[in-house]
Amino acid sequence: TLVLGIESSCDETAAALVTGDRAILAQAIASQEAEHSPYGGVVPEIAARAHAERLAPLIEKVLAEAGKTLDDCVAIAATAGPGLIGGVMVGLVTAKALAMASDKPLLAINHLEGHALSPRLADASLEFPYALLLVSGGHCQILRVEGVGKYQRLATTIDDALGEAFDKTAKILGLGYPGGPAVERLAREGNPQAVPLPRPLVHSKEPHFSFAGLKSAVLRAHDAGEHADADIAASFQQAALDCILDRTRRALSAMKPVNALVVAGGVAANQTIRSGLEGLAGEFDLPFTAPPLALCTDNAAMIAWAGVERLATGGEADPLDLKARPRWPLDPDAEPARGAGV
Ligand code: ATP
Ligand code: MG
Ligand code: FE
Repeated sequence: TLVLGIESSCDETAAALVTGDRAILAQAIASQEAEHSPYGGVVPEIAARAHAERLAPLIEKVLAEAGKTLDDCVAIAATAGPGLIGGVMVGLVTAKALAMASDKPLLAINHLEGHALSPRLADASLEFPYALLLVSGGHCQILRVEGVGKYQRLATTIDDALGEAFDKTAKILGLGYPGGPAVERLAREGNPQAVPLPRPLVHSKEPHFSFAGLKSAVLRAHDAGEHADADIAASFQQAALDCILDRTRRALSAMKPVNALVVAGGVAANQTIRSGLEGLAGEFDLPFTAPPLALCTDNAAMIAWAGVERLATGGEADPLDLKARPRWPLDPDAEPARGAGV
């Protein structure tokens, strides 16, 4: 089994070739950091244009690198949402054209499913069901991953995503965009106890998240001018970790049995958060899994892999008139947390 994966939902244009036995034969990512950083965040129109310019050459590149053609692939998998709609459409329409030209099935992949299954690409021993903390630029959720296409959502954020909180903190501290890695670097030089910051929703009964108040407190602490930026970064990261641990602990206590605690999504690249969660897994006598850093942030290997997983469970091809979806919850039955997006 060989699947071509395409990702274009945010600001990374990516293509990858992944086999049924977890080999990433080739992958390429073009980041748009340079285009967006003058604006301090992703500009959707610029992102869509950049995807349109780069995607086709990236696909040619991975095919050439792997010494394969479309004929060698069993399917073309592309992110069909959720994300910035212009970018998603570029990837999806490209996949449709390739599927049509090569007479291969189109697999429309939910980007969140790509993140959710990415730990299984890296770790063959990870079996369903597992508890997943999905922490990315647009999402902060706890899910029970029961199988391909079977996701039970236990918690989500009532305001900001965790990656968003990292990005806003970076902006406040003048660290630029993208913010997560910069905050993590600066935090290494700071004292995580130096700045008193709130832990929103900690100890509340439902395991939902909230980060808007934490971000506002970071802004106040910065404006007060009494603390070093490194101390603010470290204290923010500690407060975020404390929230994550408390909420995940609560969710695990309420969850039906699982085989592992797993973290995925861009923020899963954060070492402090990874090691905190590893400790939490120990409390519950669970193995802990986190994908290698390159599979945490957006990439096409996870999209190809989600395609592999769908084929392996007898999943069907999608029609060529399938629409891109700006919003697409993994668990359509989940109750929204008060006023929150999906
Ligand atoms: P979504 O997956 O919800 O649609 P996205 O695709 O934009 O959103 P990802 O690429 O999965 O998000 O993750 C990007 C986010 O991860 C950004 O908010 C970024 O700041 C954050 N991030 C990346 N690396 C780190 C890190 N080392 N520490 C903390 N945050 C990080
Ligand atoms: Mg990105
Ligand atoms: Fe993502």
